[in-house]
Amino acid sequence: MPVLRPLPTQGAGRLADRYGRVATDLRLSLTDRCNLRCTYCMPAEGLDWMPSAQLLSDEEVVRLVRVGVERLGITTVRLTGGEPLLRRNLEGLVAALAGLEPRPVLALTTNGIGLAGRAEGLAAAGLDRINISLDTLEDDTFARLTRRRRLADVLAGVRAARSAGLNPVKINTVLMRGVNDHEAVSLLEWAMAEGVQLRFIEQMPLDAQHAWQRQTMVAAAEIWARLDARHPLVEDPADALARGSAPAELFRVAGTTHTVGIIAAVSKPFCGSCDRVRLTADGQIRTCLFSRSETDLRSALRSGVEDAELAGIWIAAITGKQAGHGIDDPSFLQPDRPMSAIGG
Ligand code: SAM
Ligand code: SF4
Repeated sequence: MPVLRPLPTQGAGRLADRYGRVATDLRLSLTDRCNLRCTYCMPAEGLDWMPSAQLLSDEEVVRLVRVGVERLGITTVRLTGGEPLLRRNLEGLVAALAGLEPRPVLALTTNGIGLAGRAEGLAAAGLDRINISLDTLEDDTFARLTRRRRLADVLAGVRAARSAGLNPVKINTVLMRGVNDHEAVSLLEWAMAEGVQLRFIEQMPLDAQHAWQRQTMVAAAEIWARLDARHPLVEDPADALARGSAPAELFRVAGTTHTVGIIAAVSKPFCGSCDRVRLTADGQIRTCLFSRSETDLRSALRSGVEDAELAGIWIAAITGKQAGHGIDDPSFLQPDRPMSAIGG
């Protein structure tokens, strides 16, 4: 990972940190609840869900995002969770966010359950992009990995997203050794046949059970080798251009127009070019997935402060963004909140 050094100045009215990075991509968690129990994310029994009084209301969400787009340069808002389709009135919230000026690009990350009946309505409300999480095409493996037998629902959701025009539909896949890592090639072949873009994401230490182990993680290089052995991969020139010196993450399947992403979040971190900031469902700013501290925007909001003060708190929070996630540091400590409560 490149060594980042603090810079002396920051831009006013932007979410700029001490290392010159500017956050423009807001990951907004709408709930910590979920209808699956993916083993890399949640324990079988679920978690103690946040009491609803702690959650930001729709009005509070819209106000904070408005401050973000009007005053702080947020250009993309990704709705996530927990499972964002479980949020009541999600379509209404999407429509309200689509009405902001300047209008942010609106994206959703979902496990796809229930999407079959809602993709059309979400697109009509203003949703621009969708990522659907799918780790296996085998019914039994799906049940083992997510502890629920809902594969058919997810596949129906993928098709509905395509028909609703939410293209390119992206599929997020986490491979786990001995569970679904034998499916890397079949998932790619399925994605090519379905006309969706597959993106493999390395498993990160964000499970509630703290069971992640670096030694058993299926790393990006291994995923690349498995795919390349069956379907030679070439670096996508547009991606190489966009990423500059950063490691390649998007590859084209040779002889086709299909691309596949391999995101080495752990083995080749891209923290130096991170443009993300997170807001949890209970209104806490997190500057990194792996932050061990948060900034409470909800209390300020509920105390009745003006927009300018909310923006100031947000700007101050970003100043403290850490240089990198530090998973390889001997002193690394997994964050207290699991992925489902942070917002992936
Ligand atoms: N429930 C929705 C879903 O599954 O798409 C949204 C929330 S989920 C936390 C967002 C993404 O985080 C999913 O693609 C999921 O696979 C990924 N994720 C969860 N835990 C992870 C982990 N420990 N390492 C890597 N990715 C993880
Ligand atoms: Fe739920 Fe998404 Fe976590 Fe799976 S990864 S348990 S679908 S929040």
